[in-house]
Amino acid sequence: MPHMLSPSKITAWMVCEHYLTLKFRDDDRARRNGFGNSDQNKTNEVLTRNEEGDLVISPPTDFADLLQKKGILHEQECLKEYRKEYPDQEGMNSVFEVPQAVWEKETFSNWTKRVEDPNPLEVGYPIIFQMPFIHKGIRGIADFLEEGGGTYKPVDSKLSRTGAKPGHLLQLLFYAEAVEANPAISKRPSEVAVALGSGEKESFKVSEFWWFWSRLRRKLEKVVEIGANAQTKPKKCSHCGICEYWKECESEWRKEDSLSFISGIHSGHKEALEEAGITTMAKLASLPKKTIQSLIDEEQEEASAVSLTADMEEEIEENFREVMPKTDDDFLEEIRPEIKTKQLVRLWKQARLQLISRENNLEIKDAPIHFFSKAEMKEKMKDRDAWKREEILLHLPECTDYDIYLDFEGHPFLTPQSEIIFLFGYLEKVDDEWIYQEKWSEDKQGYPDKDIEKEKAKALVRFFYERYKECQAMVPPQEMHVYHYNHTERSLLGNLTTDADQSSSMVDIFQNMLATEDLSDRVFLDELVENGVFVDLLAVVRNSLQAGLESLSLKFMEQVAGFDRSLDQEGLSVVAEISSDSIADSRSDGDITQGAGAVFEYELYANHAIYGIPRDENRKRAIAKYNKEDVDATQLLHMWLLEQRREAESLEDAGVEDAPPSIFSERIQELKEKILEQVSG
Ligand code: SF4
Repeated sequence: MPHMLSPSKITAWMVCEHYLTLKFRDDDRARRNGFGNSDQNKTNEVLTRNEEGDLVISPPTDFADLLQKKGILHEQECLKEYRKEYPDQEGMNSVFEVPQAVWEKETFSNWTKRVEDPNPLEVGYPIIFQMPFIHKGIRGIADFLEEGGGTYKPVDSKLSRTGAKPGHLLQLLFYAEAVEANPAISKRPSEVAVALGSGEKESFKVSEFWWFWSRLRRKLEKVVEIGANAQTKPKKCSHCGICEYWKECESEWRKEDSLSFISGIHSGHKEALEEAGITTMAKLASLPKKTIQSLIDEEQEEASAVSLTADMEEEIEENFREVMPKTDDDFLEEIRPEIKTKQLVRLWKQARLQLISRENNLEIKDAPIHFFSKAEMKEKMKDRDAWKREEILLHLPECTDYDIYLDFEGHPFLTPQSEIIFLFGYLEKVDDEWIYQEKWSEDKQGYPDKDIEKEKAKALVRFFYERYKECQAMVPPQEMHVYHYNHTERSLLGNLTTDADQSSSMVDIFQNMLATEDLSDRVFLDELVENGVFVDLLAVVRNSLQAGLESLSLKFMEQVAGFDRSLDQEGLSVVAEISSDSIADSRSDGDITQGAGAVFEYELYANHAIYGIPRDENRKRAIAKYNKEDVDATQLLHMWLLEQRREAESLEDAGVEDAPPSIFSERIQELKEKILEQVSG
């Protein structure tokens, strides 16, 4: 029996070919064991209504389930809109809801047969909701079919807010093909559309994309023919974050000693190294120093500043020799992968550091650290914006009593229409004591509110600005900075869920929130940014050191700095514990896991009514504790970095250097002029 595809399987396959190979393997196994299909174990999602008439759905069990439920709820919102737009006419349903499948009792194919008797497309309902199709080896459920022009236009509801993705379009093209093949229609729809989370509908002309679908169809036929025998390999990609095969693929990569685990490696670097025969982390680390040196010498003829920084290298070399005494020098002598020497040297050092940790079974806190030389740090900062001048260990400001340590918690899809920063948490010194402050973007009843989010952001910027000005007015003037550790998990979650363009930069987040606000607030923010008040410690770490770790995320670096979350007897990293169940164990660096945990908890707290559960204040407390741990860890990491600078001889006499004026000066001037204009007239 040939394998059956579905739009979601095809979408995953477009990102990762290996996914389908594993799916086919599981289908084969399930069939051999008499279970039909590997995904035949679906259960019906029961939607009910509460006393107020609002929809209630069962609480999600994990992060992937949460995403699915958000999708179902968005679909229901769209259905409500269709019902408003197409009221029933003379006893006939304008919006026909296809009877649901009973997964416990029937197969997809039996359900389709049941639905088609009588065929809803033949009956001619204006709107058909959740029509199942099986056509030429693909099966799928079209969210909506809109009748018009002698055919039906497929419309799918998606959580994405900024626009449809290629995978969405191909699902719709399949439905267009299935509608055309339906005996009651026999006409290809001219358009398909995506009902976005923003409430907008994005339409596409089928004729413009049909070539794409036809080509894909041919390719898919071959893929189905080969089935589980395809010689595919797992490759890290955007689907891994929500893929059910993560554990399996990760363990394969570990067994192979894959280059994927080298911190900071890009897929392009990985491919170039593999083409040159350097297929494992150990092979890369084992490149002899003389080979690397010869590449650097060659490069320096072209006047590029790359160095091995002798002392540190000797130390790494020695440690490395202890764990890897023998290398295949002949093989490695002539190697020349197609990547820049600078990148190769960085990855080579990184591989060595990680191998030293691995072979010595070192705990994260004991990982070897290699600080760049002053010249290397300056080289790294050469083309950066002037306002980022503090983001290097050489220029990292000393701690003062006026500093702030800040962290946000955000939910990328609190509703299909909007994301929210629901918690601004920070540390400030009050009466000689560091106090944790938590500002929630919530209304008086404790529910998240976008207007209050903006108010909190504005109030925070004003607070920073006044504090900064007070410090400047002191005699002598005092330094004041806002330290944070950038939110990589925010953009990772954004990619996994809705939109690919979510910014992880704290400054960008503030700028976006104040974009439509008072000009004066934006002037304050720009002045703070221009003066280097915001300091991203992740950037400082990246620009100043390499560590024998798979990631430089806060959860790793805080341990190097000596921060121990388990010491917080009350906090006990509740969110982190919950999150490891919420999304298949950490995607190697823990970023997604941690972020997903806070989102999951806040979803159940803030949207509890949707799930028919009481609001549980403990969830909010757990998030606040987790957030506090983050700002505490950020502060400790700042102190640790300064200590390392004091101790490292190579970094002696480091100090803040004057930076050239940046584009912000002009922008601030421009905004000030606008305000004057508004005030005067
Ligand atoms: S975990 Fe990643 S590599 Fe493995 S099948 Fe899933 S998407 Fe592909």
